[in-house]
Amino acid sequence: MTDTQTDWTPDALTVWQSLTPENRDIIIRNVYCSHCGGTATITDFTGWLHVSGDLILNGQCAKCGGKVARHIETGDPYRLIDGVMRRVDAG
Ligand SMILES: [Zn+2]
Repeated sequence: MTDTQTDWTPDALTVWQSLTPENRDIIIRNVYCSHCGGTATITDFTGWLHVSGDLILNGQCAKCGGKVARHIETGDPYRLIDGVMRRVDAG
């Protein structure tokens, strides 16, 4: 293994698990790999939350094993409030 982060942050895990399996599958299979030069599948990934509340996945490309990352905008239902992810119900 490499020096990549090995654990999900609890907040990131909460957001990830709130997604439907279908959405998670779509995200996992649509990661851009700069090494392959196209869409790839991310494996062995972990997640953390950016200060904006967006979920960031860091892992490896299933094809070439290179490092890839996926930025998921979670701004709609979730916001980082006082350092804690909270669901924000619009309207
Ligand atoms: Zn690749």
